Amino acid sequence: MTIVQEIQAANEAYAHSWTQGQLPLPPARKVAIVTCMDARIIPAHTFGLKEGDAHVIRNAGGRTPEALRSLVISEQLLGTDTIIVAQHTDCGMLTFENKDIHAIIHKNLAGADATHIDFLPFKNLEQNVRDDVRFLRESPLIPKHIPIHGYVIDVSSGKLIAVDSE
Ligand SMILES: [Zn+2]
Repeated sequence: MTIVQEIQAANEAYAHSWTQGQLPLPPARKVAIVTCMDARIIPAHTFGLKEGDAHVIRNAGGRTPEALRSLVISEQLLGTDTIIVAQHTDCGMLTFENKDIHAIIHKNLAGADATHIDFLPFKNLEQNVRDDVRFLRESPLIPKHIPIHGYVIDVSSGKLIAVDSE
């Protein structure tokens, strides 16, 4: 089986036992979580979530500048009032700089130029969590009353470690 066939088979079994089809659109627990796309993180497990509970916005690194569009929709249209930013140990974003990925793109993609794109890598995990939390606290698009909590996920233990929690 290819991965696509495996996914289709898994989904058939999942849909067969699915019973939560009447859940409302707004997240029941009114929380939006920004985290990394890392394959080792399953947010439902890490954060104790079930269907209908929360918005989980994922991107490479769990970077808040990239998540801002979704966070504004989450708060302004769908009623979330708490933000959690959770980046993690051993993140791929700690392993390269913009110049590296710009060169890889240029080589692999027929000379394509991506030097105008900041891929948002970072060097210091805890400092980056603080910086990304501050980015949201200082954004005019995030209401001042919304608490923003910064965490590191230790992927070796699964633990959430508070870094910048109001
Ligand atoms: Zn990561």
